[in-house]
This record gives sequence, structure tokens and C-alpha cells, in this order.
Amino acid sequence: MNSYPLHVDEALNAVLRSVRALETIRVPLAECAGYVLAEDVTADIDIPPFDRSMMDGYAVRHEDVRMASPQAPVPLRVIGKTAAGDVPAVKVERGEAVRIMTGGMIPQGADAVCRFEATRGGFEQGLDTVHVLAPLEPGDNIARRGEDISRGAAVLRKGTRIGAAETAILATFGSAQVPVYRKPVAAILATGTELVEVHEPVRPGKIRNSNSYMVAALVRQAGGIPKLLKAAADDAEAIRAAVEPELDGADLLITTGGVSVGDYDNIPSVYEKLGAETRFWKALIRPGSPFRFAERGDMPFFGISGNPAAAFVNTQLFVLPALRKMAGQRDPVVPLTKAVLMNAVAKTPIKQTRFLRGTAFLEGGRLKVTVASGQSSGMIGSFAGANCLVRVNGGDVLREGAEADILLYGEVSIR
Ligand code: AMP
Ligand code: MG
Repeated sequence: MNSYPLHVDEALNAVLRSVRALETIRVPLAECAGYVLAEDVTADIDIPPFDRSMMDGYAVRHEDVRMASPQAPVPLRVIGKTAAGDVPAVKVERGEAVRIMTGGMIPQGADAVCRFEATRGGFEQGLDTVHVLAPLEPGDNIARRGEDISRGAAVLRKGTRIGAAETAILATFGSAQVPVYRKPVAAILATGTELVEVHEPVRPGKIRNSNSYMVAALVRQAGGIPKLLKAAADDAEAIRAAVEPELDGADLLITTGGVSVGDYDNIPSVYEKLGAETRFWKALIRPGSPFRFAERGDMPFFGISGNPAAAFVNTQLFVLPALRKMAGQRDPVVPLTKAVLMNAVAKTPIKQTRFLRGTAFLEGGRLKVTVASGQSSGMIGSFAGANCLVRVNGGDVLREGAEADILLYGEVSIR
């Protein structure tokens, strides 16, 4: 165990070094969004798989209509019709056209599609005729076989979190059962004798437990499965009894509160009793310096402060990257973004890294950020409307107009 507090980057590295991706499973395509892909996906067919029409219109030979214009329409004999899904039975010879719909397979002999709007219908010498009103180049309005994705191309990399767009690609290549990593199950326990449940009235001396739900929401967003345990009082035996039976079904444990060295801070002793070894205690950050990282076998335990802002920062900085790595994500750490500071930030003590709640927004094409007032680690008011944490490195004074690093976790609006 480290007996000295770690710099935020060191702490994150130590956490990430200790965890690995869980085993892989297969899930039905309709349920795979939110999981992380466990195998590379290679195109096993060309997309599109055949030359197809991008328009409703007529498949033609471009030489036939080279001189076409509204003044000199070119009549072509319509020899058939091809809808999406059909295999055309006819070949287009000189002077001929096939009526074709979007997605329809281009018939042999045709090399361009004239869109319906650039034609006029007709009937000549007892035959169905179309008049083409505009010239065409070869390939016009045709999506060539393989022009989107060619067979053999690498399309999705293992370690990619699956969203709607990836799902479309998986479906295109016939992945009915998608290989993914199992989602980590995070057991979440709030501790504190002062805690009452959300549906309970706030009696004297008590507060409602908000941490459990906040941490659960973060876990879910990051691709884990939260498992909420009933909050425990500041009593070592009660905490142990709440946690122990849940460990088998979980991949990581997050406790809030009681992590420090106060008279009723039981987390260090409970972790020890459960057989977890502390890897480090304390990070040089504010809020959230009382942070304990332990391991029970290969199961990580995150002992985070009960102060809501500290718990939020600890979860964002340390728990979520670990969880994303366990969930299989190739890049588990969200990169920082630059934003222009709208208000100055006082000097940060040399050894500390601060994470201030702020609101980032787009204005005049630039990302800007306002730091909220009320940055104390016990305050929750500044969560409202915030969408990022502004990182201030030790010793830095940030003036108004300076570029700051922000960890963006919410949606950005345009002003
Ligand atoms: P602790 O980390 O136990 O010393 O708690 C620090 C502060 O956070 C105290 O003011 C607690 O009342 C508060 N706190 C602890 N747990 C929670 C929780 N689950 N939800 C909201 N506030 C909490
Ligand atoms: Mg406490």
C-alpha cells in the first residue's frame, strides 16, 4: 500500500492497472447497444452487395441520352420494371430503358439512372415510351457494388462501445448475436447513521441519501449495472453484513462515506475484515481527497467520501474509467476538452488538483465555461445546470479568458 497521497494521474493509473476486461458473452443484436464489442468486425460482403439505383426513375444507357434536353427529349422504349428486391430479368439494349425504383438492382446493359423528375411519360407506336429530358454520365444515380464498404474491410474495432450507428453496421453484416464483454455489476453502498431513504421524511439530524442514486446513475451511463444495497449505519458490523452477501454477484464495490479517520469511519476496518487490501489511500485532489482504493482478490473496492461533490468527482475520475475498462472499452479515460474560462479561478495549492463544477456552452463557435459558485465538497446546489468539471492543476492561477481543461460529462447548449 502507498502510505502517501497520490497525484490524480498516478491514482488513476494505479486503478486502471489493477482492473481488466470481464469475460465475453453474446447478446441479441436488439440488446447490444451500451455493451462493448469484444471482436473486430470485418465486412463479409460488399455494401451495397450489387449496383443499385439511388433514385426512382429509369435505368438507361448513357450514350442513348447524351444529347437529351427539354427541347430535344430522347424517347426510349420501356421494356420492364424493377422494384427494390427484384432481380431484373431483362437486358437494356440500345434505345431501351427499364423503370426502376430506389434500391432496385441495375439491369444488365444499363449504366446510369435517369431520375423520374427528368423524364416525361409517353406512348409511341403502341409501346410504352419514356422521354429523357437531361443528359447523363455513366454511373449517374447508381450506388456501385462495394462503394460504401468493400468486402474484407475492417469496419468496427473490438473495444468500441456499441451505439445506434454501430448497431446498424452489425445488422448489415448479419451479426444476430453480438460478441460483447459482460457488463460489470457494481455493488453500491452508502454508509452513514444520518441517512434516511428518499421516500422518508427528513427527521432532525438526518439527510436523504443522494449518493447511492448518483453513483448508480453514473455507473449505468458508463456501461455498468448498478446494484443498490440498502444504506448502512456507521457501524462496522452493519456495513459488513450489508456488503458481504452481495460480493459474489458483483464485480466491483463502491462505498460512500465513513472512509476517513473519524470516530465513526468504519470503511478501513470493514474493508480489512472482508479481506480487501488497500492499494492507496488519499489522492491529491479537491474535492475528493479521502479516497481509498482496495482489492479483494481481483475485485476492486472504491471507498469514496460521503460528501456529494467529492463522491461525484471520485466516481468520475477513478471509478468510471475502471468500470469502462472492465466493460471492455479500449479507451476508458474520457479525454479532457479545452474551454475558455468566463471567470477567474484562484490559485490552487501546489500539490493539489482541483475539479470545479462548471457549465460549458458554445458561443460564437467557441466552447466556453463558467465556474459555478459553491464549490465546497458538501454542496450539491452547484450540480444544477453543471455539465463539466474544470481541472485546475496545482500552482495554476487561471485568469478570465484563459483556456482551461474540462472534463465534459453532460450535453452542451449553444448560447
Ligand atoms: P463522510 O464521508 O461519512 O464523513 O460524510 C461526509 C459528508 O457527506 C457528511 O456531511 C455526510 O452527512 C454526507 N453524506 C454521507 N453520505 C451521504 C449520502 N449517501 N448522501 C448524501 N450525503 C451524504
Ligand atoms: Mg459519515
